[in-house]
Amino acid sequence: MDRALEGRAIIVTGATRGIGRGIALELARQGANVAFNYAKSAPLAASLEEEIKAAGARALAFQTDVTDLKGAREMVAQTKSAFGRIDGLVNNAGINRDKLLAMMSEEDWSAVIQTNLTGAFNFARAAIFNMMKARGGAILNITSVSGLVGNAGQVNYSASKAGLVGLTKALAKEVGRAGIRVNALALGFIETDMTAAIPEPNRKMAVELVPLGRFGRVDEVAPIAAFLLSDAASYITGAVIHVDGGLAT
Ligand code: NAP
Repeated sequence: MDRALEGRAIIVTGATRGIGRGIALELARQGANVAFNYAKSAPLAASLEEEIKAAGARALAFQTDVTDLKGAREMVAQTKSAFGRIDGLVNNAGINRDKLLAMMSEEDWSAVIQTNLTGAFNFARAAIFNMMKARGGAILNITSVSGLVGNAGQVNYSASKAGLVGLTKALAKEVGRAGIRVNALALGFIETDMTAAIPEPNRKMAVELVPLGRFGRVDEVAPIAAFLLSDAASYITGAVIHVDGGLAT
């Protein structure tokens, strides 16, 4: 088994389910100690802690909402004190509240922007000084092809994910000289609770748009995330890597 992340300390936001959970477990399998947070799913957090430990790594779970900067700072400080270092951050936590703009409430707009975009700012802001002092680190933002090409019914989600692309590129330019790399994964349709909510007729139409003819799996995303956090990606920064079956080609 590849232990490319042996001894590293990596924070993953929103790891109780779906893509975040898959990434947290892959990082642990590759030797990283993992601190993760979640919003509501305490039993799933407990089972993830056990699975990370069973993979031979250390785990720390926090019920910390990504919209809370103070909570992000506390989580980063506790992770640093427990693991002694912070090498990586995966800004994965995200939600959608899909509606046509004409029907979208201010609350639907704000909740998605606050969670998907401000959440990533909060954790990057909380972690960046540790990485700057260590003269190294890697940040990975989980964005979506919806932020690259736009998707009707998702102006809030597309705006938040396009914002993450801008954040990724600007921060990569700010901190490259400090040895910190910042990249994004632009995902297409991946099988998780989020896509399970898509009604069957819409799902059929979506599959038809994907050149590979199917939705992707979490196990097709997690190793790419681990690669971008590892030294094998030492000359990659400011990149937006598509894992989308060709959807946004
Ligand atoms: P998911 O299955 O719905 O899981 C979302 C995770 O985020 C859960 O662990 C949830 O915790 C956590 N979370 C949500 N709001 C949070 C908050 N305010 N604070 C802390 N944690 C929070 O979603 P997913 O499909 O794995 O998506 C993960 C990321 O990939 C998102 O950023 C999403 O936009 C992006 N993405 C997904 C797809 C796709 O097709 N699935 C495509 C493109 C991009 P709880 O369990 O406590 O609620």
